[in-house]
Amino acid sequence: MTQSPMVRARGLRLDYGAGASLVRAVDEVDLEVAAGETVAVVGPSGCGKSSLLHLLGGLERPSAGEVWLAGQRIDRLRETAMARLRNHAIGFVFQAFELIDELTAVENVELPALLGGVASRTARRRAVELLERLGLAQRAGHLSAQLSGGQRQRVAIARALIGDPQVLLADEPTGNLDSTATVEVLRVFDELRAAGQTVIVVSHDSRITATADRLVCMRDGAFVDETRLTGGGHRPNLGAMAGWEA
Ligand code: ADP
Ligand code: MG
Repeated sequence: MTQSPMVRARGLRLDYGAGASLVRAVDEVDLEVAAGETVAVVGPSGCGKSSLLHLLGGLERPSAGEVWLAGQRIDRLRETAMARLRNHAIGFVFQAFELIDELTAVENVELPALLGGVASRTARRRAVELLERLGLAQRAGHLSAQLSGGQRQRVAIARALIGDPQVLLADEPTGNLDSTATVEVLRVFDELRAAGQTVIVVSHDSRITATADRLVCMRDGAFVDETRLTGGGHRPNLGAMAGWEA
C-alpha cells in the first residue's frame, strides 16, 4: 500500500474579484507533498504564492479544486472544523512574525496551545522545550519587542510548532530579515527538514532552496518548473536565480 501524501492539491484555483476585475491568483495547481518533505515554492512577487499557502492552510476556500491533508479532504470543512484543524494540524509562519508585543517569547509560543485547551503546565513545558530547541532558552522571558528580527521569527516558528502540526506553512519567513538573521532562520528550516517535519515554504528569495528537498517555480498562479534537490537530484544554480532575490 502506498502512503497517501501529507498534503495534496488537485486542480486548485483561486479567483479574486469577478468580471473585468477578475484576478486568477492560483491557476490549476496540482501538488503532492510527502510526509517529511520540505517543498520550496519560489517565484516573483504577485505570482500567487501567498494565495496558494492560504488555500493549503484553510485560510481561503478554493474557487475550484481540492485540498487534502493526511488523507482527509479539508477544503469543504465547516468553519468550526477548519478552525480546529488550523489550531491542531497546521502551523503558520508569516513574513511579519505576527507576535504579540506585550507577551514574552514563551507566552507567545504557548498561546495557541492554551487556546486549544492544553493544560497550562503542559503548554509551558512544551513552549520552553521548543525555545531551547531553537536556541532561544535565554530569551524565553523577554518581550517580543526586545528581540531581534531573527529571534522573533524563531519564536514565531516555535509558536507554529507548539501543536506538533502535520504541516508547517511558511510565507516569506525571511522577507523582513537582514542576511545574518536570514541565515539563522534558514538553519532552523534545515533542522526541521532533518527532523522529518513536513514543510511548505514560499519565498521570492532563492536562498530558501538551501533548506528544501524540492523546488517548485511559480509564475502567474501556475507551477512552471520543478526540481528535486535531494535524493539523487542536484542543487540548483543559485546564481541563475539571483534575479528573484529582493
Ligand atoms: P505573492 O504572494 O506571490 O506575492 P499573492 O498570492 O499575494 O502573490 O497574489 C497573487 C495575485 O492575487 C496578485 O495579482 C495579487 O494582486 C492578487 N491578490 C492577492 N490578494 C488579493 C485580494 N484579497 N483581492 C484581490 N486580489 C488579490
Ligand atoms: Mg506573498
